[in-house]
Amino acid sequence: MAEEKKINEVVTEENSETVSKNFIEQEIDKDLAEGVYDHVHTRFPPEPNGYLHIGHAKSILLNYGLAEEYGGKFNLRFDDTNPTKEKTEFVNSIIEDVKWLGADFEDRLFFASDYFEKMYECAVLLIKKGKAYVSDLSADEIREYRGDFNTPGKEDPSRERSIEENLDLFERMRNGEFADGEKVLRAKIDMAAGNINMRDPVIYRIARLTHHNTGDKWCIYPMYDFAHPLEDAIEGITHSCCTLEFEDHRPLYDWFVKECEFENPPRQIEFAKLYLTNVVTGKRYIKKLVEDGIVDGWDDPRLVTIAALRRRGYTPESIKKFVKLAGVSKANSSCELDMLEYCIRDDLKLKKPRMMAVLDPIKLVIDNWEAGREEMLDIPNNLEVPEMGTRKVTFGRELYIERDDFMEIPPHKYFRLFPGNEVRLMGAYFVKCTGFDKDEDGNITCVHVTYDPLTKSGAGDPGRKVKGTIHWVYAKDAYKATVRLYENLVDEEKGKLNDDGSLNLNPNSLTVLTGCMLEPALKEAKPYDSFQFVRNGYFNVDCRDSKEGEPVFNRIVGLKSSFKLPK
Ligand code: ATP
Ligand code: MG
Repeated sequence: MAEEKKINEVVTEENSETVSKNFIEQEIDKDLAEGVYDHVHTRFPPEPNGYLHIGHAKSILLNYGLAEEYGGKFNLRFDDTNPTKEKTEFVNSIIEDVKWLGADFEDRLFFASDYFEKMYECAVLLIKKGKAYVSDLSADEIREYRGDFNTPGKEDPSRERSIEENLDLFERMRNGEFADGEKVLRAKIDMAAGNINMRDPVIYRIARLTHHNTGDKWCIYPMYDFAHPLEDAIEGITHSCCTLEFEDHRPLYDWFVKECEFENPPRQIEFAKLYLTNVVTGKRYIKKLVEDGIVDGWDDPRLVTIAALRRRGYTPESIKKFVKLAGVSKANSSCELDMLEYCIRDDLKLKKPRMMAVLDPIKLVIDNWEAGREEMLDIPNNLEVPEMGTRKVTFGRELYIERDDFMEIPPHKYFRLFPGNEVRLMGAYFVKCTGFDKDEDGNITCVHVTYDPLTKSGAGDPGRKVKGTIHWVYAKDAYKATVRLYENLVDEEKGKLNDDGSLNLNPNSLTVLTGCMLEPALKEAKPYDSFQFVRNGYFNVDCRDSKEGEPVFNRIVGLKSSFKLPK
């Protein structure tokens, strides 16, 4: 569990609940108290090169949550300075996901590419100050000259070019007078710096790439380390929260905002990424699964992209709860998938009706029930929430029950149906097994029972008890449906990766059941509607493969959990 910072605990008066501030909130409190900033302005800066995943949800909710908590502002800004991998499809999906999570950016939607001109001016300013120069070295040479942890870097032969020459060359880079890769603009910092990021980093490269926003207007593009701090500064961001891999880049971040002479520059604070067991995060891997056709798109319900979680039946509330439980910390750690599943179960438990759905049906015939007679039963929608009321369900002679609720030869402690045993049909009567039919291959095709009219549910004590209650669906009006069950795409214990670096995939991650028998009311369910199917878990209506009056159901999560909420 990542939630460990218990310093600075405050007991709020209204609810006397202990609220501990995370380390970022503590830093913000300090900045506000010392007058470094008089307000809070955060941002979420995705690169539009894939769909967002659960890790991004943490960053979104953290940044948005801080703005909300401190009465500040929150920007959604596309970090679209690298045109090779960017696509409009990703821009649209990201906007949809951020909105769905409830992170309201209002009209503060920005694109870093809108600042290309301003960034160019900043680069010119650096040249004029003698803090940047045009280099003729190739990418390989720059790498070679950079040195490493033990060896200081070697100075670039172009390092001492005059300001005039640099200004002229940089302008000609912009005008397309040089080939891709022929020249770069470098910051002039310190080739002997202990932090390799400070050894004259490249800040502009020449690349003839068409940009999704600026088209072919530019043939030079700024590098991430230069562009990102300027984007923050231009927008007036105060606290730029990012993940730990940028910690070593912070001195460079500070150098750029200072040398480009921004007043009240932003401050970068790093936190640990959210990692989750048994799932695939990381756009690179998800992209490959999509491109190889192993999953049916970025929103395949087995993925943990936000689009996939939404399609699977997760709610924004469940994801918020999960991110809160995961906490914000400086130390990398991994959360259990069980914790995410706990959160959705907990969210749906008291909100959703509990319906009867038979996933692997076998016929049950009540031989002493008069053929053609039907009875309407009142079934509670959620036993834990009586206010959710009851619904009418038809009961009659022929029903479906789960195949594994009957056994010809029961093992020890099996309390469901077997010859001679009596169980309760949920919300209906006691039935006693009198026999069964088999086909030529020895498969059981039908179970025969007799019912006891004095045992109707709710009619008082029948004078005897049964140990098993099973669910059922009336055969005549059952909705025959497709239901999909999921297992993890990868199994952490067996190793997420194969020796060759490919993902070690679970071949059973998807099971499609086509002959399920559901209560007829479920036929009217609409995409994203979700339900508990008693004894089988939580399910929702798939938004892609369902048709009007013909919903397809996805299992969101089973009912059982091994996860315990930490004390
Ligand atoms: P990935 O590593 O999955 O490809 P990324 O970091 O390249 O993701 P960006 O679009 O660059 O994706 O990230 C946008 C923001 O989300 C960044 O501030 C990044 O630090 C944050 N972020 C990315 N992954 C996680 C994670 N697992 N947990 C928390 N924040 C994350
Ligand atoms: Mg990235």
